Amino acid sequence: MLGLYDVSSGYGKKIVLQDISFEIKESGVYIVLGRNGSGKTTLLRTIAGILKPIKGKIVKEGSIAYLSHSLALPNEMTVKETLEFFSSILGGDVNNVVEKFDLKDLLEKRIVDLSQGQKKRVSIAKIFLKDYDIYLFDEPTENLDPITASKIREEIVSLSKSKIVIYTSHNLYEARDIGKYVLVIDGGRLKFFKPISEIRLKEYKIGIRASQDLSKILKGEYQGEYFVITVDDSSKVNQIIQELSSKNIQIYEIKEMKNPLEDLLK
Ligand code: ADP
Repeated sequence: MLGLYDVSSGYGKKIVLQDISFEIKESGVYIVLGRNGSGKTTLLRTIAGILKPIKGKIVKEGSIAYLSHSLALPNEMTVKETLEFFSSILGGDVNNVVEKFDLKDLLEKRIVDLSQGQKKRVSIAKIFLKDYDIYLFDEPTENLDPITASKIREEIVSLSKSKIVIYTSHNLYEARDIGKYVLVIDGGRLKFFKPISEIRLKEYKIGIRASQDLSKILKGEYQGEYFVITVDDSSKVNQIIQELSSKNIQIYEIKEMKNPLEDLLK
C-alpha cells in the first residue's frame, strides 16, 4: 500500500508539488504522465524518501526500489564487479539478471565506458536482484533501443502482477500499452488519476489501408497511404469494415492514428 495525503514537496523554498493525495492498494503499473518540469521526478523522489515533504503525510507499506535518472553506479567498476558488489549487499543471483537483461557481452566493460542505455540496463538489473514491494521507475525505457525497451517493459509488467509499480513516461503508446492506471501531473498538482480502461475517448481517428480509393465511399482524408476517418464510437469501425467488405474492398490494415491519452496532456 502506498498513500499520499496532502503532500507538498520541493527544493529549499521552491514548492514544486502541491497538495498531492492518492492511495494505491492494488498491484499494477501506475503511469505518471506530465509535461517536462511538471513534477514527475520530484514525485518519485518524494515517495522514495530522498525529498522530505514540506507538508502532508506519506504512508508506505513495504520496501521500495527506485530507478532514478542519475543511475548511480560505480564508474570505475566493471559491470560484473558492480552486480557482484550489489548482490553481496542486497542478495540475489547475478546470473539471473545477466540473463534477463542480456548483459553477458557487457560484463567486463567498465561502467564509465557504457552508453546511457547500457547503464540503464545495468541499473534495472540491479533493481531486479532483489524483491521489493513498491517500485519507482523514472523513465526506464528512455535511451533504449525498441527491442531492449520492449523486453524491459515485459519484465516490469510481469513484476506488476503482484507489486505496485509507479512508472513515469513520455511515451503515450507505452503508457497505454502497460498502464493499469494513469496519473497526470500538471504544474505540480495531480490533475487526473483513473484506470486507463475508463479513459473516455472523445473521438477515434482510424487509418485504413485498402485495395481501393476510399474517398469516394467514406468521409475522411488521405494521410500518406492511410485513409483517415474520425468516429465517436469504436463500434462504428466494425460497421465500416462490414460496409467495405460488402463492396468487395480488401482491407490491408486498420490502425488508430491518435492516442487518446494525448487529450490528457492538453
Ligand atoms: P519532470 O520530472 O516532470 O520533468 P521535475 O520533477 O524534474 O519535473 O521538475 C519539477 C520542477 O522542479 C521544475 O521546475 C524543475 O526545474 C524543478 N527542480 C527539479 N530538480 C530541482 C532541484 N534539484 N533544485 C531545484 N529545482 C528543481
